[in-house]
Amino acid sequence: MQTRIEVGILGATGMVGQHFVKFLQGHPWFDLKWLGASDRSAGKKYKDAMTWHLGVAPETVAGLTVDDCKPGNAPRLLFSAMDAGVATEIERAFAQAGHVVVSNSRNHRMEQDVPLLVPEINADHLKLIPGQQRTRGWKGQIVTNPNCSTVVLTMGLAPMKQFGITRLITTTMQAISGAGYPGVPSMDIVGNVIPFIGNEEEKMQEETQKILGEFRGDRIEPLAARVSAHCNRVAVVDGHTVTVSVEFSSKPSIADLRHAIDTFRALPQERALPSAPPRPVIYMEEANRPQPRKDAERERGMAAFIGRLRPCPALDYKFVALGHNTIRGAAGAAVLNAELMHSEGMLD
Ligand code: NAP
Repeated sequence: MQTRIEVGILGATGMVGQHFVKFLQGHPWFDLKWLGASDRSAGKKYKDAMTWHLGVAPETVAGLTVDDCKPGNAPRLLFSAMDAGVATEIERAFAQAGHVVVSNSRNHRMEQDVPLLVPEINADHLKLIPGQQRTRGWKGQIVTNPNCSTVVLTMGLAPMKQFGITRLITTTMQAISGAGYPGVPSMDIVGNVIPFIGNEEEKMQEETQKILGEFRGDRIEPLAARVSAHCNRVAVVDGHTVTVSVEFSSKPSIADLRHAIDTFRALPQERALPSAPPRPVIYMEEANRPQPRKDAERERGMAAFIGRLRPCPALDYKFVALGHNTIRGAAGAAVLNAELMHSEGMLD
């Protein structure tokens, strides 16, 4: 029987923090024992420190006392849902003090020595960690997961990477839950589309190149593809949809691409990691799928769904992809990252 690992959450009272609490309920390896938040919440019972937004609040943590986010009492493994305004210093302080910080915040994603991990795509980017610890003098480490729309795009592209991606154009239709709580005012979003999400297009472009890039000793060489993103907020509650046009150097046939998608499996599946979907990328044959309301929660929200693969008159092919933005795009992504790290012996 495997020893259970105690874990904590930095930013446990926020929207993403609550998703971590929910996702970790009943986890076979990880025991949620510690909750951290700001001075406003520290010292209060969890149930009194936040307003729960995700249905019935788990009783197992309701009575835990929230701690402040300073190293001292927290378990070694911490999931971070810290406010981006303070995440840089707080996450670094915990890594310095020997903690493994598996972060959902954007702050460290693009730093040269920090893995931006999607376990099905770039597990080898974890090899950055020894260099990160050496150059920063850390006993601990920081590993990040991507922005919620980037993970949908890169999961959709993962089976196709072998054909040499040279250019791609993507347009997102992003759910309002991606803006946190209370998020976008209802008067702005109901019956409307907002064609701007601050810094989102830049994040999608650079994160995609890093995730699909190659490990080169002490850094990641970004994918040498031109990536253009258009990001939109739409009146959907959960589930980010992205449409993609893509050009390949090796000019695969549609049958080649379908075979690659249908047979795509990676380390999380081979190792049967607890949060890994058996099929990480699922092709839907129906002409009108995937759809966020019908499909985002399938496979516990951990898979990417693809449909409508067809020739593109401008580039080579086009398709649609969908994923759950607060599960595969946030809490579930970070938990799967930690499971991969545990399977690599990095939490021993
Ligand atoms: P949020 O609801 O505002 O929660 C922020 C958390 O940070 C709260 O627990 C808050 O504690 C804590 N915090 C704030 N200032 C602090 C301080 N000075 N010291 C210690 N803790 C502090 O934010 P969120 O929407 O959950 O987002 C959290 C992170 O995830 C952000 O970096 C965001 O960019 C990223 N993200 C969010 C989503 C999403 O769907 N919302 C998706 C992907 C990524 P108090 O309650 O005590 O203030």
